[in-house]
Amino acid sequence: MTLSTTSPARLAELREETRAAYDALVARGLALDLTRGKPSPAQLDLSTPMLDLGGAELGPAGAGADHRNYGGLAGLVELRRIFAGVLRVPVEQLLALGNSSLALMHDTLAHAALFGVPGSERPWSAGRTAVLCPVPGYDRHFALCEKLGFEMIPVAMRDDGPDMDAVERIAAADPEVRAIWCVPTYANPTGAVYGEETVRRLAALDAAAPDFRILWDDAYAVHHLTDEPAQAPDVLARCAEHGHPDRPLVYGSTSKITFAGAGVAFFGASRTNVEWLTGHLALRTIGPDKLNQLRHALFLRDADGLRAHMDAHRALLRPRFDLVGRVLRERLGGLGVATWSEPRGGYFVSLDVPDGCARRTVELAAGAGIRLTPAGATFPYGTDPRDRNIRIAPTYPALDDLEQAMEGLAVCVLLAALERNAA
Ligand code: PLP
Repeated sequence: MTLSTTSPARLAELREETRAAYDALVARGLALDLTRGKPSPAQLDLSTPMLDLGGAELGPAGAGADHRNYGGLAGLVELRRIFAGVLRVPVEQLLALGNSSLALMHDTLAHAALFGVPGSERPWSAGRTAVLCPVPGYDRHFALCEKLGFEMIPVAMRDDGPDMDAVERIAAADPEVRAIWCVPTYANPTGAVYGEETVRRLAALDAAAPDFRILWDDAYAVHHLTDEPAQAPDVLARCAEHGHPDRPLVYGSTSKITFAGAGVAFFGASRTNVEWLTGHLALRTIGPDKLNQLRHALFLRDADGLRAHMDAHRALLRPRFDLVGRVLRERLGGLGVATWSEPRGGYFVSLDVPDGCARRTVELAAGAGIRLTPAGATFPYGTDPRDRNIRIAPTYPALDDLEQAMEGLAVCVLLAALERNAA
């Protein structure tokens, strides 16, 4: 039974029942939060033993450098080695830096705005600069562009990356389109994984801007939820093959591997880009926190150690994602009022409600004490033209809370759809 095939009399009944369910929900006085993709306390506990490591190696080292001192701008090579394979960047082109990849994205874009990037004819802020934004996407990417005054051009996100016909058309026609945001593995929020063909086309793109950049934010490169780990294509190699070695800028971090507030962020790119960024960074810092990097290298050890650690995360995360899928299926399946992603990794579920219902759903949920990411947040300028997308972040709440929040959300989705249907 979908709403569209339900008789008006039955629809009116259903509206009454759902309204009553919503009133009962409000009466429970819940205070639940599905807003931000944060690791849960149990996930953070997995890495707490890391804090005991490193003491013996810190002192004035006989052979190696003294990690307590200044220097080592590129970061610890031992840690870069562990992440080179994961991020598909040669060790010598991978920097291990501060605690936040978002900060690195901010810095690269700020440097681009002020000075341009290698190949630029002018700084990106001298006149118009536009950035392609696959939607739905990551709100902080969009906030960054907005702050720097870069115009955002939405392009539709598909299961294997952005709508490449649109990307090719727009980038070829407009020399002021200088970049595209990409979250290639388990994209925020849809969970899509970029396919080989998408990346080949991005690499081969006949961009009108000579300094076009792919902002390759591989935040969820190792955050698998299944036995079949996805791996995004090797963007550096593909771009080099197509004669655009300076096109990709690769970002990653251990924020959702070790500690979200005290991890290590990475930047990888062509030698030219790495030298460009290092030149700017050298004025900003004399070197990163190498003691934290050392702790990370000792704790994660190697690619196998990283994999085993991520398996422990997965054991905690999988039940949450299963629960979200189950409640949505049980409460909304077959009603024709919602579709949702079933991600194989990452941190989010993307929920699409009927056009014009996302804001109302979020408002109803807030009224029942269930906080959701604001409707529209997954679009540039906070405007979802169809007002239908809601990002669900199931990682942080305890399972019981998550179940209550999802049951409540399902009531809100249905009520919003029924209200609209009656309007
Ligand atoms: N990139 C994406 C796609 C994210 O979803 C997030 C956090 O939610 C970040 C970057 C933030 O990364 P970091 O903690 O390294 O700054």
